[in-house]
Amino acid sequence: MATESSPRPDYKRPRHRKVCQFCKDKVAFIDYKDTNRLRRFINDRGKIISRRTTGTCCGHQKLLTTAIKKARNIALLPFTAA
Ligand SMILES: [Zn+2]
Repeated sequence: MATESSPRPDYKRPRHRKVCQFCKDKVAFIDYKDTNRLRRFINDRGKIISRRTTGTCCGHQKLLTTAIKKARNIALLPFTAA
């Protein structure tokens, strides 16, 4: 954690538990054609953002990864940014 630059080192950020966006929306499966949603889970270089960062739960991360890979395969999403 990069808290060294914080103006108040003893200040604890309120515990805000990251909640899985897919659980929140009660998504049972992730549509690989839904690129607007998938794009939120890849970074600007086209890489899948880790669960730790996005807060996606284990089950949904697996579905998400599969969906992104499918989307890449049919050129809806990039493999890498040029
Ligand atoms: Zn989930």
